[in-house]
Amino acid sequence: MDLLEYQAKDLFQKVGIPILPSQRIDHPKDLKQLRIPYPIVLKSQVYAGGRGKAGGVRFAENTIDAVAAAQAIFYLPILGQYPEVLLAEAKYEPDQELYLAVVLDPSLRRPLLLGSREGGMALEATSRQIQQVLVDGEFSPFYARRLAIHMGLSGELIESVSAIVEKMYRLFLTYDLDLVEINPLAVNPAGEVMALDGKVAVNDAALERHPDLLAMQSGDSRRDHAANRPSHSTLAMGPTCSGLAASAFDLPNLNPMLFPGSLGILCNGAGLTMATLDLVDRAGGQPSACLNLGGESSYRLPPDTLCDRLEKGLDWILQTQRLRSVLLNLLGGAETCNAVAGAIARYLKQQRQPVSVPLVVRLGGAHAAAARQQLAALDLPMLFVLDSLDEALTKAIALSEGAGVGR
Ligand code: GDP
Ligand code: MN
Repeated sequence: MDLLEYQAKDLFQKVGIPILPSQRIDHPKDLKQLRIPYPIVLKSQVYAGGRGKAGGVRFAENTIDAVAAAQAIFYLPILGQYPEVLLAEAKYEPDQELYLAVVLDPSLRRPLLLGSREGGMALEATSRQIQQVLVDGEFSPFYARRLAIHMGLSGELIESVSAIVEKMYRLFLTYDLDLVEINPLAVNPAGEVMALDGKVAVNDAALERHPDLLAMQSGDSRRDHAANRPSHSTLAMGPTCSGLAASAFDLPNLNPMLFPGSLGILCNGAGLTMATLDLVDRAGGQPSACLNLGGESSYRLPPDTLCDRLEKGLDWILQTQRLRSVLLNLLGGAETCNAVAGAIARYLKQQRQPVSVPLVVRLGGAHAAAARQQLAALDLPMLFVLDSLDEALTKAIALSEGAGVGR
């Protein structure tokens, strides 16, 4: 769950990250009871970034200006989203704008501190200069200082910036966050720092542990929850029930989709899964069951490795009803492709009874060709390894419609 800027700033205040006096604006007329002195800045509260460039951040010197600016911002979509509320904030005159973030690195499974001396709206242009410090042990202020020094800061800024990073880290731990970002952290001519913008992403699996964050979500009443769910496939058919639940196959956190057809689908990653379902549908195929095995770094999905989940996924899909063929559409890097090819080969060889349903494998990604060759060279009777997704789709669909397995 992402928080809006004003909600992120509420959290900042709790841990002592300096923010400017601000006020939530639900309607332009609220500006008539403004408690902050002019000049102010008015900011669109949407989840998308790039508000500054899109015109969603405006300055105002008096009430008349402010009401006009607020009206304009309420009617300005940013990446298709209209703000439900604005934030009015005291204006700050920065000398310098820094970028700071604490993120969870999903593949290393450790927090990562990020920082750049060139923050603010210039960040995208300079993103290669973002410094990284991996927190690979018990956190200590040393990590924050190291980031500040790598960023090229000097003098008192080293202390004041690392103090902010420490507070961001405390927030990150306390609230089980996936991300806490300040862009920009403004520095004024006196060397004082101020968080002008804030982004916080909460780990959905940990939300239950944080009633105060849950309250923010429900307080944000007009938020469109449906819009935050994974997008739906354009597949016209509705899921129906058949086969055993995936939970019976040690895949407690995977959510299979069941359909009335005869083609099983296994993919790694939500986007690839939905795209594959759509392609099968467009090519006239009839899916029976579809399972997203999760990406390479989906470490929150036990079993731990993609190859383990692939084996369990095959166990599961092969017992679903009406199945006549299985399409495995898998994408990965060099290591993954080799490992996945190995896992499929091992799986087929280990079965006490030969698998009776043909498996059509499409392995894509860098260096996939070698892995495909390795798999094809095994010449297993029920295994079809195809170079292109189109070929794999055609083959899998034909087999699911009862075409013979002859080559
Ligand atoms: P974003 O574009 O969605 O990241 O929105 P930000 O809140 O970061 O605002 C964009 C830019 O507006 C910032 O990089 C700052 O340069 C500027 N800005 C935002 N708030 C203030 C403020 O209080 N005072 C001043 N002078 N500039 C601000
Ligand atoms: Mn920003």
